[in-house]
Amino acid sequence: MEHIAPALLAWFYQNKRVLPFRTDPSPYHVWLSEIMLQQTRVSAAMPYYERFLAQLPTIADLAACPEEKLHKLWEGLGYYSRVRNLQKAARIVCEQYGGELPADYEALRGLPGIGDYTAGAIASISFGIPVPAVDGNVLRVFARLYNDDGNITDPAVKRKFTQWVVQHQPPDTPGDYNEALMELGALVCLPNGTPLCAQCPLAHLCGAHAAGTALTLPVKTKPKPRRVEQVAVALVKSPQGWLLQRRGETGLLAGLWQPVLWPETVFETADAMQQALAELGVQTAAPFALRGGSAAQPLPAAKHIFSHVEWQMAGWRFDAPAQPAPAGCVWADEQQLQAEYALPGAFKVYKKLMLNKE
Ligand code: SF4
Repeated sequence: MEHIAPALLAWFYQNKRVLPFRTDPSPYHVWLSEIMLQQTRVSAAMPYYERFLAQLPTIADLAACPEEKLHKLWEGLGYYSRVRNLQKAARIVCEQYGGELPADYEALRGLPGIGDYTAGAIASISFGIPVPAVDGNVLRVFARLYNDDGNITDPAVKRKFTQWVVQHQPPDTPGDYNEALMELGALVCLPNGTPLCAQCPLAHLCGAHAAGTALTLPVKTKPKPRRVEQVAVALVKSPQGWLLQRRGETGLLAGLWQPVLWPETVFETADAMQQALAELGVQTAAPFALRGGSAAQPLPAAKHIFSHVEWQMAGWRFDAPAQPAPAGCVWADEQQLQAEYALPGAFKVYKKLMLNKE
């Protein structure tokens, strides 16, 4: 196939979105933006990106940031292992590379949370090193350009596509080329729905466009269906604030805060949940005596989708007298809920209740 770079780059320079990390593509900025964008749309990630850098302008600041603050800066973005790995890597960078990311693909690849794609993006965009950066967007573009129905979840197919990416990469502008491919995948060669071939600078070269097969490509194995898990949630309010519980140090949402909850549990009645709270050492007002005899308030059902599991949450809200928080829990007033404790997006509905309804 004729080289795609001239037409692709001409299109990119005319059409690329103005994004903060493009204005100043320092290695730290590119790294942070790529990690944020791994599971998050550009429009959702950008306010986080700006806030994060305002608070932690250097890699040394990131390395030294207290955990609670770090979680708070990431609150609502999800996939918190990303930010924990960012900090682990920042600490290594400070210890081994004087606080600056190394201009070396393999060294970047060796840092926590940095895989082939992110190392390729940083190396090519920030350091001008001619290496590929192949994500889902780029695989889709190449599956269509070459009209290749290989399964992109197969490592051998991914390697073959990566070789094609490399063959077309211009040595003088490797980063622009990688960015242009990602941008084409995000804006024109769309993942869901019909690609905008009429606007595509590569339409004259594209095999799938000629064959009318673009909508069937790329081929990939369907992910397994998600497991559904019932989760019981208690919102407990005392004069000291709302009761929050810290999650364990490992696993899903490690180290973050949540309302008191019981995984894989359904309580049939508010009484049963109240009993479970008492077993944790939390005294609550009798549910059926609340508000002059009315029942404990049922919480709205909520669900949250993680990559492998879907939580379906339900429970009640209780009033409680002032008392010490049990082990692993705190009472958080509104100000602390806002500024100190990071509650994952899974609890958005309940956080809103805690902040607005009292
Ligand atoms: S012509 Fe259409 S299918 Fe081919 S690369 Fe462009 S947008 Fe994608």
